[in-house]
Amino acid sequence: MMFLKKTLPQHRFSPVNHVEFSGFSVEVVRKPYKRNMSLIIRPSGRMRVYVNRSTSVKEIYAFLRIHEKWILRTQSEVRKLKEKYPPKKFMEGEEFLFLGQSKKLFFQESPKKRIQFYLQDSLLVCLCSKGERSNKEKIKKALLDFYKKEGKKTLEQRVFLYAHQMQLYPKKLSFRAQKSLWGSCSSAKHISLNWKLIAAPLWVLDYVVVHELAHLRYHNHSKRFWGLVQRHCPQWQQSKEWLDKNRYEFEFLSVKSELWEDVS
Ligand SMILES: [Zn+2]
Repeated sequence: MMFLKKTLPQHRFSPVNHVEFSGFSVEVVRKPYKRNMSLIIRPSGRMRVYVNRSTSVKEIYAFLRIHEKWILRTQSEVRKLKEKYPPKKFMEGEEFLFLGQSKKLFFQESPKKRIQFYLQDSLLVCLCSKGERSNKEKIKKALLDFYKKEGKKTLEQRVFLYAHQMQLYPKKLSFRAQKSLWGSCSSAKHISLNWKLIAAPLWVLDYVVVHELAHLRYHNHSKRFWGLVQRHCPQWQQSKEWLDKNRYEFEFLSVKSELWEDVS
C-alpha cells in the first residue's frame, strides 16, 4: 500500500534513525547502495524512509516536505480506517463477522476442561472458569481455531458442490491464511483457499471457489475464463467488490494486525 520514490542528491553523513515530521515519527533506514530515497506508509500509519548511508537530515526533510500533502492525506485515511476497525478486545457482547453476519460473543462457564466455541445465534464460548473471561489471548486463539475449522469445513463443502457442477476437479485442496490472497490454483491443479473467507457472506466465498475451479480449465483471466465464472457465479462482480471494500473486516483473524501493529 502507498509507495513513493523520488531522487534527490545524497551526500554528507548523518546517522539518525528517526525524524519528526508534521507530528509523525518517521523511521530512517539506511541502505548502503540505495540511490533514490523512498517513503513507505504502512496500513498502521507507521512511516519509514529508505535513504543512502550518506544522506543528510536536511535532505530527508526536503524529501518529506515535497510529499507532505500525500503524507497528510494518507495519514488521514489511516486514521479513518482505525476508527472504523478498532482492535478487538475479545470481550462478551463484542461482535464478530461470521458468514457475513454479525455474531455477538457470549460467554458461559462449563465444567469442560478445554475452552470451546459453538455457533448459535451468537458465538458461544464455553469457559472452564470465570477467570478465563479476561484472558484475551486464550479467547482469541480459541476463536481463530474455531474460524479455521469452520472455514475449512465450509470451503471443502462448496468446492465439492461446484466441482460437480462445473465438472472440474482439483488434484489437491489445501488451506492457508494469507493476508490478501483469497485463493490460488497451480498448473499441477492444486487449489489453495484462504480459510478466513468464513467471515465473508456465502455468496462471496462461493465466488472465490468458482474462480479457482475455473482456473483448472483456463490458467489466465481471459474472456473465456470470466465467461465460465459468470455461468456458475452470476454475482462475481459484486463479490469482488465486497472483498475489496471489506478487506479490513478480516483483521480480527490475523495473528498480527496490519492496522494495529503495536497492539498485541
Ligand atoms: Zn485468478
